[in-house]
Amino acid sequence: MNQRIDPIARLVQELSRLPGIGEKTATRLAFHILKQGRERAKALAEALIDATERTRFCSRCMNLTDAELCTICGDGRRDPALVCVVERVPDLRAIERSGEYRGQYHVLHGTLAPLEGIGPDDLKIKELLSRLPVKEIILATNPSVEGEATALYIQKIIQPLGVRVTRIASGMPIGGDFEYADPATISRAFSGRREM
Ligand code: ZN
Repeated sequence: MNQRIDPIARLVQELSRLPGIGEKTATRLAFHILKQGRERAKALAEALIDATERTRFCSRCMNLTDAELCTICGDGRRDPALVCVVERVPDLRAIERSGEYRGQYHVLHGTLAPLEGIGPDDLKIKELLSRLPVKEIILATNPSVEGEATALYIQKIIQPLGVRVTRIASGMPIGGDFEYADPATISRAFSGRREM
């Protein structure tokens, strides 16, 4: 069956795959894009392709970058002995916005979620272990059930190796994402970090 797909329906379908975008919003966005005309649509399509083709994982911390090392790992003033472990790139960006942390990062790209079939091998844990030994690992996963379980899992592997492992202080809303926390809250969470 060689069915012709309506181009507007196809656009709506693609947009509705994005997180937080239901069919109604996708339809509104699709008609907005059509109304803006060919040049704007072309610029959007090119930005999407350019970003996805040129972005890759930093070979050290798994941040997204367009070079071998991300700007943080490439910055000689950042302390490589201090590694802050986060779930996702937006968490790293939120911590950077708070402006106080001067160490490096490691991005796991997710959390352990056994019910969804996400195990240690699906996260960037091997890559974290290959960076050891360091002076301190700061576990800054979110204070959700998955975030806590992931922090505990990493602590159990790393602490026996003689590395200091700390957990950022709670004080962020339970289940609240770093992404939406204000810089003062993030800064307090860091300064109040405790030994695990
Ligand atoms: Zn990096």
